[in-house]
Amino acid sequence: MAEETQAGDQKWISVITAAAPPLSTALILFLGYFVAAAFALSLTAQAGYIASVWLAGGILLVAFLRSSVATWPVLLVLAVIADLAASLLVGGEPIAALGVAVADTAEPLIVAAAMGLYRDRRAENMPWFASGRWMIWFALACILAAAVAASFGSGWLAILGEAPFASTWQTWVVADAVGLMIVAPLLFSWTEPALRQTVSSARMWEMMAFSCLIGGTSCFAFTGGLPLLFLAFPVLALMTLRLGLPGATAGAFAIAAPAMWFTLHGTGPISGVPHFDWLERIQFLQLYLLAAVVCALPIAIVLAQREALAARLRQQGAISNAAVENMTQGLCAFDATNRLITCNRRYAELYGLPEELTTAGSLLADFVALQVAAGNCRDGLERCHAACSGEGNSEPGSTELAMHDGRLIEIHRTPLEDGGWIATHEDVTEQRRASRQIAYLASHDELTGLINRAAFRERLQTPPASGGRSEDFAIHSIGVDRFKEVHDTLGQALGDELLRQVGSRLRKVARDGDVVARLGGDEFAIFQCCMEKREDAGAFAAQVSEMLAQPYQLDGQEIMVSATIGIALAPLDGTGAVELMKKSELALHRAKADGPAGFRFFEPGMDAQLQTRRVLEAELRAAIQNGEFELYYQPILNLETNSIGSFEALIRWRHPTRGLVEPAHFIPAAEATGLILPMGEWAMRQACREAAAWPPGPKVAVNLSPVQFQKGNLIAMVMSALAASELPPARLQLEITESVLLGNTDAVRAALVQLRALGVGISLDDFGTGYSSLSYLSTFPFDRIKIDRCFVRDLCARDASLAIVQATLELANKLGMATTAEGVETAEQLAILRAEGCTDIQGYYIGRPFPGRGVVDMLRRHSLAERPGRGRATG
Ligand code: C2E
Ligand code: CA
Ligand code: CA
Repeated sequence: MAEETQAGDQKWISVITAAAPPLSTALILFLGYFVAAAFALSLTAQAGYIASVWLAGGILLVAFLRSSVATWPVLLVLAVIADLAASLLVGGEPIAALGVAVADTAEPLIVAAAMGLYRDRRAENMPWFASGRWMIWFALACILAAAVAASFGSGWLAILGEAPFASTWQTWVVADAVGLMIVAPLLFSWTEPALRQTVSSARMWEMMAFSCLIGGTSCFAFTGGLPLLFLAFPVLALMTLRLGLPGATAGAFAIAAPAMWFTLHGTGPISGVPHFDWLERIQFLQLYLLAAVVCALPIAIVLAQREALAARLRQQGAISNAAVENMTQGLCAFDATNRLITCNRRYAELYGLPEELTTAGSLLADFVALQVAAGNCRDGLERCHAACSGEGNSEPGSTELAMHDGRLIEIHRTPLEDGGWIATHEDVTEQRRASRQIAYLASHDELTGLINRAAFRERLQTPPASGGRSEDFAIHSIGVDRFKEVHDTLGQALGDELLRQVGSRLRKVARDGDVVARLGGDEFAIFQCCMEKREDAGAFAAQVSEMLAQPYQLDGQEIMVSATIGIALAPLDGTGAVELMKKSELALHRAKADGPAGFRFFEPGMDAQLQTRRVLEAELRAAIQNGEFELYYQPILNLETNSIGSFEALIRWRHPTRGLVEPAHFIPAAEATGLILPMGEWAMRQACREAAAWPPGPKVAVNLSPVQFQKGNLIAMVMSALAASELPPARLQLEITESVLLGNTDAVRAALVQLRALGVGISLDDFGTGYSSLSYLSTFPFDRIKIDRCFVRDLCARDASLAIVQATLELANKLGMATTAEGVETAEQLAILRAEGCTDIQGYYIGRPFPGRGVVDMLRRHSLAERPGRGRATG
């Protein structure tokens, strides 16, 4: 409990201390108010204690304005006590004095509230009394407050029978309004730093001298020298003009004080008017005082406004000065006669100007002469002058000045109304360089320095103006074959280097007017201009192809790649850039499908073909998912044993609507999309699984695509298929074509050696159709050569075919390799091949490919029918 009361006490203490004004303020207020009140009342004994000027109210008002609202009640109580004390001191009646004190103190409270309201509404951090509107609001508030207080006070006195209402009210209003209007600004001007600035300490003496002059003149006037009275007012006006609001209030005070003193002591012109009673005298005196206020206050108001405006201008000036001096551009202003008005530091820096050219009044001509002499303006004096001043041009405009040191200065002029002009000077060297760089980067390929796809298209849209036949041109889309492989095996750095070299070769092969671009990845393009006929484009493509097929030196290694080219011709295939590029790319696509290192012209059907190709790809993907593939097997007869030595597994697609699809229709697409990987893996696993179920003896031959050597892990896949099926590796024969050997030969060789090491056999398929480099036969570990069907077909008809077959068989024999002749369809072919020493025969004559379930049957039939007497059992 005790603690609670203590906490409660402390709360009260903090409330009281927060509301209490500082002791010094309270004391000054109390004493000031008391003295002012007692003084005013002491002068008014014969006038029923109605003061002619009530100064005490002003003191209380300033106390309110300069302290927080929380302290107002305390100030109010102090003022009421001081008021009462003063009234009692001069012999007032206590009840009447209490009413008067309440009315007196309510007055400044009303003004303070009104002014606080005004300040809040303006929401502006403006010092009190510092603007005209402020003063007007203040004056209105004073009159209103005085009227309210007078109504209450006079009513009170009238009820008590102390004084008549009307005359008391009238004098009260004037006395209090004037008192507030003189004292509050006066005190404020001394306590508010923002206002006090207007009267520097040097002016203090002036203020005193003026006050003495006015006070002295007034004293003289009231003690006999009446004409001097008229001197006081002009001096008051002068004083206000020179010293502002503080001067005005001090001057008004110097006029008011003697007037009141002498009048109320019965001397001076006002008291001397014979038929005036005391009330009329006070009214006259008040009129006189009002005249002083009216004379000084408007001047003070105007001055305050002007000062506020000047301060704002000074501030703005300081801001714009700082801005001008710190701006990154040079700035100068010239008048209509081309004389410098002003300029900033940067302007002088930009041109290294001597001081005399940066001072006001210096001539533009001198500036121009200096620039021409320094070699900054190569167009000569007159042109330079015009460029700098924008002579005769009333519109804003820009010019550039190329400086002798390589800088570029951009001058932007804005004419002024009076014929002069201002100009900004900006060093745009870096900016221009950056935008050039950006434009370059946006239109060029960083790696090769060639233009990029977007820029190429743009060039195509604006055909070269030179040459009469510019509408006849060709677009060559060039794809680097096997680039991905080089990139994957040799790394990005060498891949990039290869592209760089391709780019520079293309640049070399291009002639004047041709445009070379890198469209992205391994795709380049050439715009071949000024073509005479279609053959020109073909010849050019062949030339490009040959150039790119030359060996490349990459980090000490020699690399061979080829390029495939698609050609679109204008105006034959179209005229639009986008259309032609698309068509050349379609042609490239087709050319790639035909195999590497070739070129193709665009043909109208290609679009549709591509479309079909896309559909096929989607279908293939689904087919892999749905298991729509089957393996067919074609028997291969061994001529030595006269038995089926092996079966070649040939893939078939059981298409849901098209029925059985031959591999020629989908293998190329599967290779192009990489779908050959899952498809080939499936074929390998399926072939091994089925062969493992056959009677021991016959091998199974599985075809491999070159793509399987490039991507995916072939060795692991083969091992896994063998392991899963438990097929002995020796019963697996892999068939590869020469195109496999064209790739990264070392890697392919290593893979083949590993496969051989597993015990798997390897056949070279379709021999004679590709490059047929005989060196392959010695470098790679083949154990069988398959002679292509085309030679067998013509065996009886063309001597050349027979010769090739004979040579191949002889070579294979010498190298210890077995031979299979493909596509044997007749007994005649078989006889020739047997006579020439071919070891194995494959073809419709032996048997067409058939589904796997027929293999066992066939083996049984064959062993019974064909070789009844021979020993080796196959079933
Ligand atoms: P290939 O490896 O040369 O296969 C032999 C092709 O010749 C087979 O065509 C076969 O049906 C056909 N053929 C065999 N004997 C004769 C004959 O006496 N006369 C004629 N006119 N044709 C004969 P198929 O099955 O259409 O296969 C075509 C090609 O598809 C194959 O050529 C092979 O390169 C590829 N291929 C087939 N299956 C696969 C596979 O599982 N994987 C891969 N990568 N390629 C495969
Ligand atoms: Ca084959
Ligand atoms: Ca073949």
